Amino acid sequence: MRKIILLYLISLPIFSFSQSAKEKGLATINKESAQAYIGFLASDAIEGREAGRQGGRIAGEYIRSVLQDMGLKPLNENSYFQPFEAYSPERQKRVRYSVHPDSIAKYKNLPAFRKLRMRNILGCIEGRNKEDYIIVGAHYDHLGMDEALDGDKIYNGADDNASGVSAVLQIAKAFLLSGEKPGRTIIFAFWDGEELGLLGSENFMQTCPFVSQIKGYLNFDMIGRNNDESRPKHVVYFYTEAYPVFGDWLKSDIITYNLQLEPDYRPWDKPIGGSDNASFAKRDIPVIWYHTDGHPDYHQPGDHADKINWDKLVYITKSAYLNLWNLANAKTY
Ligand SMILES: [Zn+2]
Repeated sequence: MRKIILLYLISLPIFSFSQSAKEKGLATINKESAQAYIGFLASDAIEGREAGRQGGRIAGEYIRSVLQDMGLKPLNENSYFQPFEAYSPERQKRVRYSVHPDSIAKYKNLPAFRKLRMRNILGCIEGRNKEDYIIVGAHYDHLGMDEALDGDKIYNGADDNASGVSAVLQIAKAFLLSGEKPGRTIIFAFWDGEELGLLGSENFMQTCPFVSQIKGYLNFDMIGRNNDESRPKHVVYFYTEAYPVFGDWLKSDIITYNLQLEPDYRPWDKPIGGSDNASFAKRDIPVIWYHTDGHPDYHQPGDHADKINWDKLVYITKSAYLNLWNLANAKTY
């Protein structure tokens, strides 16, 4: 009995301090912010956020201004933007671009080639341990517009992937407002050029001087829709199989915080498909990836904000904030 009391007395102050900071951040995540971010990013005014075009650049400026306003520091000293170029050998039709130096050198010798200028947006919160990094990211580009389409000509991309961008923005703000410095440094990333072949995340990894210090990557791509209306709480939770604790974390947070989600847990030996998680998984960095499945509006002009399941989006954002809290603060995993 005495032993138990002693343990309780010792552990209580530490426990209540970090719990309250974590919960303070959690409480800032809400539907109104999600609606504001997605409302702008998926509006007709920015014409489908195509990488390298005017709409994509406006989306980038918007994200930069939101980060600056919340007080998140840029990762690189002078700018939130990480500019990069991608090249393609064809000029007559749409084909894959590359950011690989060997391909670029080859394409530059062709009589004609395409070049796109894009920008990732990178913010960070420095950790107590400056050696280890955790990255949380979502792509902000989408398919732009097509003047030849009859009727709606704009690919608004509310689910793909303004939904994911809203989650990264809310989680950055929640960490700042928690008032607690994370254990590891967290990078908040908004990738450009995903729809053209994961160009932004791949460029980041090719030029990153601290790849071996990245201890985890959390990805969002399409987290706002119901694939099946009879299962509105459904979300696919992919994670690197070698880290079963990633599944345990979510199971326990769902109970503790009463999160209204019914995840499909998908441990995956190497999550190299589908989205920017591939740029990390192929370099053996442990990954968690949230996704609410395809739907009839996927890559169609009808991917509009009024079809988002806001409650689910907010619960996913909260559960991912809690995942990130663990990734940044757990001593080991
Ligand atoms: Zn996407």
